[in-house]
Amino acid sequence: MTWRPEDGPVAVTGARGLVPGRWRTGRAARLAGAGLVVVLACLATFVLWSLAATSQLEQRVELTSTVADGYQQVRTGAATEAAMEREYRLEPGPQSRAYFAAAADQLQAGLDQVQRRGNAQDRMTVAQLTAAHEGYRLAVAGMFAAVDRGDAPAAVRLAVREVAPWAVALRDQVWDVAESHRAESLRDLAAMRHLQRLSEQLTPVVFLGGLIMLILFTMVLRGYRGTLQRQQAQALHDARHDALTGLPNRFLLVDRCDQALRQGRRQGTVSGLLLLDLDRFKEVNDALGQACGDALLVQVGTRLTECIREMDTVARLGADEYAVLMPAVGSLPAALSAASRLRQAIELPFRLGDVDVDVEVSVGVAVSDSSMTDAATLLQQADSAMYAAKQQHLGVAPYSVDDESSSPQRLAMLGELRRGMSRGELVLHYQPKVSLSTGEVSGVEALVRWQHPERGLLPPDDFIPLAERTGLIGPLTDYVLDAAFAQARLWIDVGRPMTIAVNVSGRNLLDEHLLDQVRAALDQHGVPASRLVLEVTETAIIAEPRRTLDLLTRLSGLGVRLSIDDFGAGYTSLAQLSTLPVTELKIDRSFVSAMTEHRSQAMIVHSLIELGHNLGLTMVAEGVGTAAVMAALRAYGCDVAQGYYLTRPLPIGAFDDWCATWSGLDSLGDRRLDRRLSDHAATVVQQRRGTPGRLPRPLAG
Ligand code: C2E
Ligand code: MG
Ligand code: MG
Repeated sequence: MTWRPEDGPVAVTGARGLVPGRWRTGRAARLAGAGLVVVLACLATFVLWSLAATSQLEQRVELTSTVADGYQQVRTGAATEAAMEREYRLEPGPQSRAYFAAAADQLQAGLDQVQRRGNAQDRMTVAQLTAAHEGYRLAVAGMFAAVDRGDAPAAVRLAVREVAPWAVALRDQVWDVAESHRAESLRDLAAMRHLQRLSEQLTPVVFLGGLIMLILFTMVLRGYRGTLQRQQAQALHDARHDALTGLPNRFLLVDRCDQALRQGRRQGTVSGLLLLDLDRFKEVNDALGQACGDALLVQVGTRLTECIREMDTVARLGADEYAVLMPAVGSLPAALSAASRLRQAIELPFRLGDVDVDVEVSVGVAVSDSSMTDAATLLQQADSAMYAAKQQHLGVAPYSVDDESSSPQRLAMLGELRRGMSRGELVLHYQPKVSLSTGEVSGVEALVRWQHPERGLLPPDDFIPLAERTGLIGPLTDYVLDAAFAQARLWIDVGRPMTIAVNVSGRNLLDEHLLDQVRAALDQHGVPASRLVLEVTETAIIAEPRRTLDLLTRLSGLGVRLSIDDFGAGYTSLAQLSTLPVTELKIDRSFVSAMTEHRSQAMIVHSLIELGHNLGLTMVAEGVGTAAVMAALRAYGCDVAQGYYLTRPLPIGAFDDWCATWSGLDSLGDRRLDRRLSDHAATVVQQRRGTPGRLPRPLAG
């Protein structure tokens, strides 16, 4: 890769770059899912509607045709009765009487059918027809009696005067209703046929349309699934690779180491692990800028990759730290010769823009043996070897138990520290931060110690560096956050809420999980984020400015306050300082403790306080060991003091006792100090007014 200054910083593509696309695809998939539901709902509604409409119409047709049939029967019955009644009058005989009776029954059956299935109107009509039929039958019975007596004139008279009017009335009534019901029945039948035709025509159209929509939506959903799978694969790749160089990260390296060790145990082969640390990387970053530094890191990765076998893995572990895993390398000499080859390759100049840059590298080499079961040991050994190479300027150094006497101890200690953490042997001591303007305790710093079962109380310097150089710093920070928040919760519960500061290591800032760790611990203990200050050292920020800035911004977004610890000891650029989301600077104690002895140190402290205030930051002085230092800091306008002069870090019981007796700066019992302090402050103000920028002379103890 050729990097030119005008190319700007190397682009880092991470999972977040996919977010807008993912959002769009997610929306399309949600729309497709909703579309699928709508199409299925429409199809179901259509089927239900068609079934319901057809069945309703069928019932209606059946009813109207039954009622129409009934009326038809009544009509036929009435017509037959009239014919038989005439026939009996002209030619009396039992057959005509029998036919007449049968016709009357038929008429009655028709009326019964209408009465059963018809509506209220029909039932009224039936009542009228029944009355008319009754009248007709009585008249006919009288006429039949006259015929049977042989009284023809009486029969004719009755037929004309009584039977005929009833017959006409009955016939007219029956005719009208029978006709109208027949017409209604025919109309319903026609409507049903129409509906059937309509549903025959619509069904294929609707189902075809539905099928097309289903295919379309299914295609969209399948496309989304494919995108999701690709995004998952990308996220998995991102989690296991370094964002800048694209090389495997520590996580993937450990995985591959474990595989190589397993394979080695099965096949009796020896694997090698090379740990490479660039020697002059910081100089490149400082001299040529961060973009060049990034480009160099990418080029180193590429060069290493070009010099290895296909089965080997190059990983980037941290700022300028790389590892090369060589499965089945054969022997330590083979691994050493590979290390020398890689070192020579790295020590050839790199072209950065117009400049050729030489970097040196220290390489630690470790090889596996048949008893080795976990990658952490191999990594630890390569790490020890690399430190030996660096400290003794060896270039390449193999891991050796004899040469590096501290390693076995360190390994043993690592195991002990792990066990100590699981047994709760790490304890927090608390050191107050006191406001120099009000004298109130403005917060407290939690400092970890190890209550070792044999070696007593160990200070953090004895085990934090070890935890930092292995993966143990993550769980350790988790432990400290948990303990500190549990204490912060207790203070809230007793009505004395306290802002608590927790130290985080540079390694923690390279671990994305820190954000989740902090968020989870805050949630678990119900402590407001504003009660937490995370103290970060300058060096941690310098090592990986881009990644740390990102993480710090997100932490600050949670509401957590950030403080730069040991400020002044590192090389944070002013430009960088103004972009960091920090609220507090803690001046390194090396300046503070020496400020009353060395005027230059006092000048530095004073300038740092002014600088911090100009950037709107709270200035904390750590390592305040004497009344004189305290007085000078007040005079310089420092906001907060922390140090042995107030109290050493104390275990929780003693700390609470200290707080109970603390009643402001007066309780230090140095009233003389206060008087001298005000004299001194007056001098400072005078001096500032008279000769701007001149530094007041701090008070002597
Ligand atoms: P630090 O964060 O700068 O903490 C202040 C250190 O200065 C503490 O040392 C404290 O005891 C010491 N100190 C305070 N006042 C004075 C004073 O007046 N004079 C002198 N000479 N020293 C004073 P300690 O507790 O030994 O901690 C050392 C360092 O260990 C801390 O420096 C911090 O960087 C690290 N550390 C402590 N606890 C943790 C932790 O939980 N996690 C991590 N990652 N680092 C921690
Ligand atoms: Mg600190
Ligand atoms: Mg400090």
